[in-house]
Amino acid sequence: MTTLEVPESHLRENPYDIAKEQLRRVAELFGVDPNLVNVLQECKKAVVVSVPVTMDDGTIHALEGYRVTHNIARGPSKGGIRYHPDVELDEVKALAMWMTWKCALMGIPFGGAKGGIRVDPKKLSPAELQRMTRRYTSEIINEIGPEKDIPAPDVGTNASVMAWIFDTYSMNKGHSVLGVVTGKPLNVGGSLGRLEATAHGALYCIQEAVRKRDLRMADLRVAVQGFGNVGSFLAKFLAEQGATVIAVSDSRGGIYNEAGLDMAAVLAHKQETGALEGLRGAESITNEELLLLDCDVLAPCALEQVITSANADQVKAKIIAEGANGPITPTADEILDDRGVLILPDVLANAGGVVVSYFEWVQGLQEYFWKEDEINSKLRDITTRAFNETWRTAEERKTSMRLAAYGLAVRRVADATITRGLYP
Ligand code: GLU
Repeated sequence: MTTLEVPESHLRENPYDIAKEQLRRVAELFGVDPNLVNVLQECKKAVVVSVPVTMDDGTIHALEGYRVTHNIARGPSKGGIRYHPDVELDEVKALAMWMTWKCALMGIPFGGAKGGIRVDPKKLSPAELQRMTRRYTSEIINEIGPEKDIPAPDVGTNASVMAWIFDTYSMNKGHSVLGVVTGKPLNVGGSLGRLEATAHGALYCIQEAVRKRDLRMADLRVAVQGFGNVGSFLAKFLAEQGATVIAVSDSRGGIYNEAGLDMAAVLAHKQETGALEGLRGAESITNEELLLLDCDVLAPCALEQVITSANADQVKAKIIAEGANGPITPTADEILDDRGVLILPDVLANAGGVVVSYFEWVQGLQEYFWKEDEINSKLRDITTRAFNETWRTAEERKTSMRLAAYGLAVRRVADATITRGLYP
């Protein structure tokens, strides 16, 4: 197993314990029946599968894969598939629970799910990646389906991976099943706007926050951690809106320019070299340093638990937009909240992806595809509505945006559960 051996996990605390604790706090604040909390704190189904993969050199590795459905009270379960060396069952359970709240907050008719494989996809060849994906899909084939559980991209997966999932599922059914997965490439039933959707959603939230705080985009200095699907597009969009992007980073480290980075040059450099470091006119900084930069908006768009009790008091940003899921631990959250930092929580700030996934699913079921501006304007409507509902709730309850967002979401799921009644 030497080539695929994994380094020490980035997870300092158990994410599922965090998710359950958040639920209990929110339930107390919003008066949710403790009997319902007993139901909602558990995942409906968690499947662990072995994924044997023949490597290009002929050796065989048995990787561990997961698919978890947290809740289906409001509709089929929805959520991404993560390929990362730190993936573990409790992380997937937490991410599945957060998907339930995210879909409920956005008002889209899905429950929450998540899946993943404990592997570093950067160490696999395209052929290995494809074999692994097809075998994983086959192992979870009875769990997924357009009316049941619909995967999508997450950290370490992309449209090509979704195409292989779509194809494997379809081959086994004997016909193309467009609704089984979202985030597909455009030429096999993907949706316009899906690739940029998470970043667009985050941008719309930041724009609303800027308006509420009487700020101007042109005066904002922004730092973005993570240069994957969310961070790279968000940095680009913020720069296009007139903000000064002073730092960006990927998993290897970051680049910084006090006067602002030229995002077109950054994107071209990353495309050419595969890295951010080495861009002319920019200093190197670490990921840890980026989080503590003097800026107005900080967008952690990489992994969980990057802002913890160890660094929260040194964060200087006034607004934090959680492009990643769970980037701030609960203790850090309290420290930042006490200091008056406005946190736009993950279930709101990064929900653009799943909203356009919903549009993709609907388009696939109807076999009728919409125009890009239609998609983006519907995404803006849904995001802005959710932002304003959250803002209003936070004001009324004198609480944080996070507790307000989770509170609204948990109430919706609890209400659906009550309306349906507990079976039998
Ligand atoms: N993985 C993304 C998320 O965490 C998208 C999920 C989806 O589109 O279903 O929200």
